[in-house]
Amino acid sequence: MTTTSLALPSKLDPAHRAAINAAWATATQRNFKIGWARWVRWCAAQKLEPFPVSPETLIDYVRSQHEQIPSVLNALKSINQVYKLASEPSPTKNPFVMLAVRGMRKTYGKPEVGRAALTLPLLKQVIREIDRSTPVGTRDAALLLVGWWGALRRKTISDMRYEQVHETPDGYRVELGRHKTDVLGARRDIVHLVHRHEVPAVCAPCALQEWLAVRPHIATLFAAGSGNYVVARPVSGNAIWAMVRRRCGLAGLDATQFGAHSLRAGLITTAISQGESASKIQQVTKHANEAMLMRYYRESEAGPNYLGRTLKVT
Ligand SMILES: [Zn+2]
Repeated sequence: MTTTSLALPSKLDPAHRAAINAAWATATQRNFKIGWARWVRWCAAQKLEPFPVSPETLIDYVRSQHEQIPSVLNALKSINQVYKLASEPSPTKNPFVMLAVRGMRKTYGKPEVGRAALTLPLLKQVIREIDRSTPVGTRDAALLLVGWWGALRRKTISDMRYEQVHETPDGYRVELGRHKTDVLGARRDIVHLVHRHEVPAVCAPCALQEWLAVRPHIATLFAAGSGNYVVARPVSGNAIWAMVRRRCGLAGLDATQFGAHSLRAGLITTAISQGESASKIQQVTKHANEAMLMRYYRESEAGPNYLGRTLKVT
C-alpha cells in the first residue's frame, strides 16, 4: 500500500497544494496522508473526484465503510485539513455527515473494550502493594479507588477539579461537569464515593481523605508525580494509564494486559458478576442504554455508583 505518495487533486490551486504538501511533510502528519490516500482510493473506485466533494458523497462514503470507524474518521480528518488549507468550508462539518458518522459509531462501534478488567480481588491486590506513606503512593491509591468506584475514564480523572469535591456524611460527592451526551445540560455527572470500612484497602473516601491532606495546591484534584513525590501540576491521562500499569505490575499482574480503562471495566465486571442490575450499573457508568452496557460486558465487564453502598467487598 502506498501511503506516502500524495494524490492531491488537480482542482486545487497550486499554492494550496504546496501548503498541504508542506503541512504533511513531517512524520507526525503521516496519518493525514494515510487518510487522504484511503479517500482517494475510494473516489477512484467510484469514478469521483476527491476534491471538491459534496456532503452527499461523503455520506455515501461513510455508509459504505461499515465498521471501519478509525479509518473513516482519519479520512474525514484529512479531507477536513485539505479544505482548511484551501481556505474552503469543509463538508465534513456538515450536520448530515456528522449524523452519518454518529450512526456508524452507534451501529458498529465497539466502545470501551480492550483492557483487562481490574476486578475487585485484583484491585485489592494492587492497592495492598502500594506504600501509602509516600505522597505518590497516597495519590495512586486515591486515584485508583476514585477511578474504580466512579467507573471513570482517564480523561475524566485527569480533569477532576478540587472544587468539585464535597464531603458528605458517608463519604464524598464529586460533581463533575455536564455529561458530554447531554446537550441540554439538564444532568450533571455526580460521583458518589462511600466509605466501605469492611475492607479498608478499598475504601475510596479514606484514600481520598489521605490524598487531600498531602496534595499540592492546584486546581485539579490529582497532581502529577515524580519519584516518591508529587508536583503542583495536573496529572495527565497518559500518566494515569502508565501508573495503572506500573501498579498492576508491582502487584504481580501482567501489566501489559491493563490500562486506565481497567478501572472502569473492573467495577462493571465485578458488579455484573455479583448480579447487580443493568439499570443500577448504568447510574454509574452513564451508558445510554442496557445494550451499550452489555456490549461492554464481553466476557464479564460492568460499573455503577449506588453500588457504592451495596457491593460486597469481603
Ligand atoms: Zn473510609
